[in-house]
Amino acid sequence: MKKLGLIGGMSWESTVSYYQAINRGINTQLGGLHSAKLLLSSVDFAEIAHLQHQDEWPALANVLSKEAINLQTAGADAILICTNTMHKVADEVEASITIPLIHIADATGQLLKQQGVKTIGLLGTRFTMEQAFYKSRLKEKFDIDVVVPNASQRDLVHKIIYEQLCKGVICNASREAYIEIIDMLAEKGAEGVILGCTEIALLIQQAHTSVRLYDTTAIHAQTAIEFALSN
Ligand code: GLU
Repeated sequence: MKKLGLIGGMSWESTVSYYQAINRGINTQLGGLHSAKLLLSSVDFAEIAHLQHQDEWPALANVLSKEAINLQTAGADAILICTNTMHKVADEVEASITIPLIHIADATGQLLKQQGVKTIGLLGTRFTMEQAFYKSRLKEKFDIDVVVPNASQRDLVHKIIYEQLCKGVICNASREAYIEIIDMLAEKGAEGVILGCTEIALLIQQAHTSVRLYDTTAIHAQTAIEFALSN
């Protein structure tokens, strides 16, 4: 089994989901007492979120590149950045290491393409919904069109992520607001919706809506499991 290197803590609430999903997935494949070989480097999310909101992306690229190099030096065979938003600096992180970086948008794009999805809704932080790094990758590499909520809905989705989900706060009112936005994305032509923030599945699961959901935490973890068990 290969050893995975996780850059987590963004937020730690979703890193827990990664740790559980990867270990459960490895155990499902191998049975018995098997569990994942992994290294976790968990950052202080207050420092990261501050830099994000100051638009200090080069500084963030440095922070995550150092984490990736440390994990590689410690013996990781591949790196996962356990957040969608921080994939804004994925190219810089990838360039700083010689082991593969398992990209969350590629993992998601591959699954969508396999399922023949052409138009998809996207929920995430304002950075992920508004900037090109995520949407363009899905268009250019997988020919998938991305539909995002309107400006006031994007503000609400973003606020709920930072003020509630990243602090482990789960509210019914927020779930209802997200479901309303998911329904509107479907009305705009989305064949499904990407939960493009690794905490959103803590709030919304498939049982809450008939619109097909794509949970990036679960998809990214599954891709990592396949890598860990590959030859
Ligand atoms: N975990 C979230 C994401 O997947 C948001 C936290 C962050 O900004 O990294 O985008």
